[in-house]
Amino acid sequence: MAEVEKRQDRSPVPSAFEYATAPESREIVRLEERYGLFLGGEWKEPSSGEYAPSVAPRDEEPLAEVAYAGGEDVDLAVRAARDAFTNGWSDLPASERAKYLFRIARILQERSREFAVLESLDGGKPIRESRDVDLPLSAAHFFYYAGWADKLEYAFPNRRPRPVGVAGQIIPWNFPLLMLSWKIAPALAAGNTVVLKPAESTPLTALLFADVLRQAELPAGVVNIVTGDGRAGAEIVKHPDVDKIAFTGSTEVGKEIMRAVAGTGKKLTLELGGKAANVIFDDAAIDQAVEGIINGIYFNQGHVCCAGSRLFVQESVYQEVLAKLKRRMGTLRVGDPLDKNTDVGAINSREQLERIEELVASGEEEGAEIYQPPCRLPEKGWWFPPTVFTNVAQSYRIAQEEIFGPVLSVLTFRTPDEAVEKANNTPYGLSAGVWTEKGSRILSLAQRLRAGVIWANTYNRFDPASPFGGYKESGFGREGGLHGLAPYLEFEK
Ligand code: NDP
Repeated sequence: MAEVEKRQDRSPVPSAFEYATAPESREIVRLEERYGLFLGGEWKEPSSGEYAPSVAPRDEEPLAEVAYAGGEDVDLAVRAARDAFTNGWSDLPASERAKYLFRIARILQERSREFAVLESLDGGKPIRESRDVDLPLSAAHFFYYAGWADKLEYAFPNRRPRPVGVAGQIIPWNFPLLMLSWKIAPALAAGNTVVLKPAESTPLTALLFADVLRQAELPAGVVNIVTGDGRAGAEIVKHPDVDKIAFTGSTEVGKEIMRAVAGTGKKLTLELGGKAANVIFDDAAIDQAVEGIINGIYFNQGHVCCAGSRLFVQESVYQEVLAKLKRRMGTLRVGDPLDKNTDVGAINSREQLERIEELVASGEEEGAEIYQPPCRLPEKGWWFPPTVFTNVAQSYRIAQEEIFGPVLSVLTFRTPDEAVEKANNTPYGLSAGVWTEKGSRILSLAQRLRAGVIWANTYNRFDPASPFGGYKESGFGREGGLHGLAPYLEFEK
């Protein structure tokens, strides 16, 4: 274990269990030195001539130069998408559209190792996760929506669905390829064309995806990819010929987008932040629940909108849960995202690291007690150790604000009513977890927790057939399942 050295005197892991490094080779990824914008099926220079490197979070290595799109480029992208929509794509028999989606799904499967390595390089997430979660789920989304493409009339009986037109899609940096798939697959299945903007810090898998589109022989202009910063996103939002906006990201930008779209008649779905409650009752299978807590908050370094970042433990099992949690945290391996044994990878960007550090400092200042297992972080790159806070009051910033890092706040409760009241005491409403042996209690809490997704005796489970989305400041609209198709359709009366 090169990057992390556990101090043997304090480590709960016997030295015999130490792992050798198991790095995944990055040779499978062939990057261009510089990427333009993917407009109308071709690579184009950005009108500004501006490029900036996308950097690997694990060691700050510049990976490739990426174009910065401006208003003119976004306009070209929207024109290409409109042209493709009007001249062919929307009239294509639905079963033909489905074939393209099936092809894309199969190519993603065939090239999954390449994509997984690139996702981990560009974003910092452990290869174990990009290989076993992001890639299989991305392919599954294309397979799933391919199946619906020629069955829309059955999906929405007596409602005569037709595509909306050009969809503008803006995605974040925490699950770049997966968020691309969540957005592009239903849009194309419904017969729309797309202008997609990946996040500034993780554009590379979206650019590699352009090559998948070429391989699948998707008609030019059906999917256009514009890279850049928030300004490119804002240009997509305000473009008059975009019919629908789908956004995943911060609540702050979501609100800006909502204001920009108000009164334009554009359709809008927003998938924003979260501060999920993971609620552990005293009758839960504690060892299993501890695994769920770990997965809930340390998966993808906690860069997860539905992360179980507030843990509510029933008082009678608090000591037991905390002891087991700390022991399990000591076995987490923080380090090189390309090492197959890594559990917690690099923080996505310097800005995000600073945001996490600022919120963690506020937790200490406000009086919470911090615990971090002993581990030495790599010197280069951006890192934050798995962290847990106890003695947390509901009013503390670490219990209210989205940290989007590997930081857990632990609170306690005595009765189910108190658990519900505290869990709902947040401006967000994206997800929650409930751990109990009692089915009736699960059903009761699922009714009363104000969250779009509620997991019972598990956490962070995703399936393309299952809708995902929030209430309150977590946004509105659903992605996944039939619910995820509806926002990409108009219904004729
Ligand atoms: P943003 O909301 O800024 O980024 C999300 C996407 O929106 C990116 O593609 C971004 O582009 C783009 N964008 C930025 N500004 C605009 C705009 N005015 N109009 C249209 N698009 C825009 O998130 P951050 O990266 O700043 O992260 C900040 C915080 O947001 C995190 O700490 C976390 O709490 C939360 N977050 C939540 C996510 C979720 O899944 N719900 C995902 C990401 C962040 P660019 O990257 O180029 O700036």
